[in-house]
Amino acid sequence: MERTLIKDAFKTQDKVLLKGWVHETRDLKKVRFLILKDKTGRIQVTGIEGKTDEKTFNLLDNISRESVVEVIGTLKECKQAPNGKELIPESITIIHEAQNPLPIDVSDYSKTELPLRLDNRFLDLHSSRTQAIFKIQSTIGSEFIKYFTQKGFTYAHPPSMIAASSEGGTELFKAKYFEHEVFMAQSPQLYKQMIACSMENMVTITPVWRAEKHNTIRHLNECRQMDIEMAFATASDAMKEMEGAVQHIIKQIIEKNSEELEVLKLKLEIPKVKYMTFAETKEVLEKNGVKIGDDDLTGEAEKKLEEIFPNTLTFVYDWPMKGKPFYIMPKGEDPNAKLSEGFDAIYKGMEISSGGQRIHIPELLQKRIELKGMDPKNFKDYIDSFRCGAPPHAGWSIGIERFTLVLLELSNIREACMFPRDRDRITP
Ligand code: ATP
Ligand code: MG
Repeated sequence: MERTLIKDAFKTQDKVLLKGWVHETRDLKKVRFLILKDKTGRIQVTGIEGKTDEKTFNLLDNISRESVVEVIGTLKECKQAPNGKELIPESITIIHEAQNPLPIDVSDYSKTELPLRLDNRFLDLHSSRTQAIFKIQSTIGSEFIKYFTQKGFTYAHPPSMIAASSEGGTELFKAKYFEHEVFMAQSPQLYKQMIACSMENMVTITPVWRAEKHNTIRHLNECRQMDIEMAFATASDAMKEMEGAVQHIIKQIIEKNSEELEVLKLKLEIPKVKYMTFAETKEVLEKNGVKIGDDDLTGEAEKKLEEIFPNTLTFVYDWPMKGKPFYIMPKGEDPNAKLSEGFDAIYKGMEISSGGQRIHIPELLQKRIELKGMDPKNFKDYIDSFRCGAPPHAGWSIGIERFTLVLLELSNIREACMFPRDRDRITP
């Protein structure tokens, strides 16, 4: 017999073979229930003493949670059962018996704390809440790529091991590469620029590593970034693209992931969009009692923005040069400009992205590197890559785990990463 998926079983009168995991069992003495789950849903399997074959009836009370089973049976109307039908089993076969007790509770009412869940992530992935998060994250990633490839962007794959720091400043992980030392990429920045300067528009989702010793709810040491880079584009072109992409992704989630949103008890709305300069943002924040410095927003400021402009994707542009990396274009292509063509995007109280127009002029790039107190010699290959026909270009980066955290209002970014790597965790 061929396997039928649970969602399809509800539509047929025929005998079916279902395969899945035991979600839970209930013994009411003369009646026994087993809730079976597969990737498409759940179904109640009901055994009745005297009616159900004895071996099968006995098994119904004797299979541990999360065991893998095959059930053959027929659907019957049942008002009390989920979806109005139950499966009357003919036979049950245990394919793989799960240990009992399990190391953590993965029921719908589990109160297991996150660290313990992460220690047992292989099992935590059985829980419907965890699955809901990653099914939605799957929509985020696939719709992100779809949105841009349909617009003609090239889906490209930058390297992860690089010979030199791409941005300077932040700490990098080192690795041995034959007789050399290499770094794990902290961003695909330089590579996406090279691609934009040749193939025009590119899109990627690529892992990056940051060796910062932070321990926060919004940072991982390994994360994945959803990036675009566009040729013949300004910061405002790039922001417009993000506006479209974020709205598209959320619309798709609302359409495709209604069940998962229900599990998470979340109602999503397409966000409004707001554009403000850094100076305007500072002013609005100060009026609302939040002071910020001259070159960056604080976490408190990001939260306040959500309070002032709820459900809004806020772009803060004309960002002070001091708060942006050396490769961001200064206003007016003036190396000494105070403001830049860089921006951040804030959504639901947190930065989800940084971006901007990049410097495509080698002499200006060299000057900016010097002004940041770095040695242009260390960036020679990068600077030289703009000597062979480089158009103005712009782009941005949204962390997929960060976006998932923010969008689904999770309490910790580790919830939005299947196998998080942080300062204290590199397993499982
Ligand atoms: P933050 O200010 O929140 O630390 P950042 O400005 O250092 O972030 P960028 O270099 O601008 O980060 O990276 C672009 C995007 O990548 C961020 O807006 C965020 O969505 C994501 N991101 C950056 N660092 C991390 C991290 N350590 N863990 C998870 N996501 C990250
Ligand atoms: Mg940033």
